[in-house]
Amino acid sequence: MPMATYPRKKGEKLAPLSERLAKLGLNKDWDYVLHLPLRYEDETSLTPIARLEAGRTQQCEGEVIRCERIRRPSGEQLQAVVSDPTGSLYVRLLHFYPSQVKQLSVGQKVRLYGAVREGYFGLEMMHPKIRTALTGAALPTSLTPVYPAGEGITQTWLRKRIARALLDVEIKDLIPRPVLSELKLPTLSDALHFIHHPPVGASLEALQAKTDPAWIRLKFDELVAQQIALKYSRSLRSVYRAPQLAPELHPSTDRLFDQLPFSLTRAQVRVFDEIKSDMARIIPMNRLVQGDVGSGKTVIAALAATLCMDAGFQAALMAPTEILAEQHFEKISQWLKPLGIKIVWLAGKQKAKERSEALSSIASGEAQLVVGTHALIQDSVKFANLGLAIVDEQHRFGVAQRLALRQNHASLMPHLLMLSATPIPRTLAMSYLADLDISVIDELPAGRKPITTKLISLNRKNEVMSVINDQVRQGRQVYWVCPLIEESEKIDLTAATQTFEELRSYLPNLRIGLVHGALNAEEKQSVMQTFKDGQLDVLVATTVIEVGVDVPNATLMVIEHAERFGLAQLHQLRGRVGRGAEKSFCVLLYGELSETGRERLKVIRETNDGFEIARRDLEIRGPGEFLGARQSGVPLLRFADLETDAKLLESARDFADRWLREDSDNAKRHAKRWFSGYEEFLEA
Ligand code: ADP
Ligand code: MG
Repeated sequence: MPMATYPRKKGEKLAPLSERLAKLGLNKDWDYVLHLPLRYEDETSLTPIARLEAGRTQQCEGEVIRCERIRRPSGEQLQAVVSDPTGSLYVRLLHFYPSQVKQLSVGQKVRLYGAVREGYFGLEMMHPKIRTALTGAALPTSLTPVYPAGEGITQTWLRKRIARALLDVEIKDLIPRPVLSELKLPTLSDALHFIHHPPVGASLEALQAKTDPAWIRLKFDELVAQQIALKYSRSLRSVYRAPQLAPELHPSTDRLFDQLPFSLTRAQVRVFDEIKSDMARIIPMNRLVQGDVGSGKTVIAALAATLCMDAGFQAALMAPTEILAEQHFEKISQWLKPLGIKIVWLAGKQKAKERSEALSSIASGEAQLVVGTHALIQDSVKFANLGLAIVDEQHRFGVAQRLALRQNHASLMPHLLMLSATPIPRTLAMSYLADLDISVIDELPAGRKPITTKLISLNRKNEVMSVINDQVRQGRQVYWVCPLIEESEKIDLTAATQTFEELRSYLPNLRIGLVHGALNAEEKQSVMQTFKDGQLDVLVATTVIEVGVDVPNATLMVIEHAERFGLAQLHQLRGRVGRGAEKSFCVLLYGELSETGRERLKVIRETNDGFEIARRDLEIRGPGEFLGARQSGVPLLRFADLETDAKLLESARDFADRWLREDSDNAKRHAKRWFSGYEEFLEA
């Protein structure tokens, strides 16, 4: 006999309760106290049935005067009529348990809470909350909280457990009174009791919008906790000692400056000064250089490296892809080899002999600068005296990878310099990356012409192909980027190959190349190199060219199905052109566009400013997506919102600074309370 499978088979095992609770972050009493309601039900009043209104969630009481089971093709329904002296109301259950049949049997007195709607026969409630024991009993005096719950965890259970935790835990206010009155915030105990059990008359609207002072207090505490956690990990870093890289004489740096075919922009000079003064200190540097694509981050990295080598230490530069690493290797070799500096290449695909030679010169200290990929952070790599670790396009690495390079040290911890073209909006940087100093190259080298961006429908692909022809006839080169299709790399490849064939048949006189993710590094490298050498006019590519490649003669970037790319990604791709003296163009070919899709592409067309684009991207995607919890390694905020609570964040940061200085024990206790389960983060 088939058994009902709703909601789960009898005997089917649920994970142990403690595990399911842990999933919700509920381990200790404090976790329950900080498990705050999603919303509320207002069961503090009864409405006579005649005064119920469709569209509202209300509560009433009455007697069941009729109840029947109705057969429907979809299954059996239960329909009852409940009445009080003023009128009657239908109650409809589309599926039901035997216990509910009992609750709604004729003559029962019931209290109903639910959404009132216009039914077929008059007002009705579908699946209201039904209680029989309560009729005539006193009404609750506070709103009923509805908590985030998990499988097999009922609201009733959670409410009881949380109410008990609220009694058991001594809610001591760690934040000093004067700070609270200055910011006009309630005590923690008052705020928590208010949020868990708002009294009759509390504004549901303010509660829901989290603008009530009680909520502001909780958000403030959360932000303060996060700031403390970040600052604490920074103070831990300051117990490490780094080599002081401030050579009295710096011949390599001087000669590199002399040799450069350009002079640094003012922004580059400023950023290099910031790095220089960090490297001169005995506390390990932890600095991120943000600069839009093409702002000239590589030369800054090279200058920092020479300073390190002039001080007698090794430097390392790690890039996320082999193509990019290779490109750095070439460019930097071109700059530094003439100075007699020994530069070593290290990557995954390398001949055994070459690799072992590289490893031994790294270990002996003969190699002064090592450039490569993830291969740099493998165990077999041992530096003699690494003084500076540089990570390019840092957002492409996870936290652990980013830090791993600098872990390669004996007694002195290397300085860490990270480069990124993906700007992190200020509020985000303040809240998630407070352990990081940020330098911004906010100026492009002179003479760069802004890139003109056009949105063109895919129906007009042919016109775009003729533009390609024009550009090539003027001696320029062209990128054509095909979209990433999530589900399968194979389909990706098919799409790219198709485009490649299409372009070849439409533009038979042009030299067209194809590069995609399925090629091995060597093959990729060789296609890219041919393009760089000017032996190809058009390079068809999947997003493998996303980061860092530098071909100044390329002046047209076509992105097919641009609507499928992220904003930051589009901006990065566009940055591949406009690197030379010629006017450059970017064509965004779009397929089906939704309203928001069109808005997003407009952002790219209207601004060349990476920061503005990142800000809009953050708005659209939210910080979780933007950073990724895994990426940041920092617990994401549960209650505060970086956009709406930006001002609160400023106060939280100022106070956290002061608190750590004046009473670090309580400050840390506060952070641990909030981030239970993240203790290792507080230690790390
Ligand atoms: P990104 O910041 O995107 O990594 P790169 O470091 O690759 O940019 O620099 C882009 C190009 O600009 C390179 O060809 C580089 O040599 C050149 N460049 C860097 N700084 C300057 C400058 N101050 N003046 C002129 N060209 C520069
Ligand atoms: Mg770069």
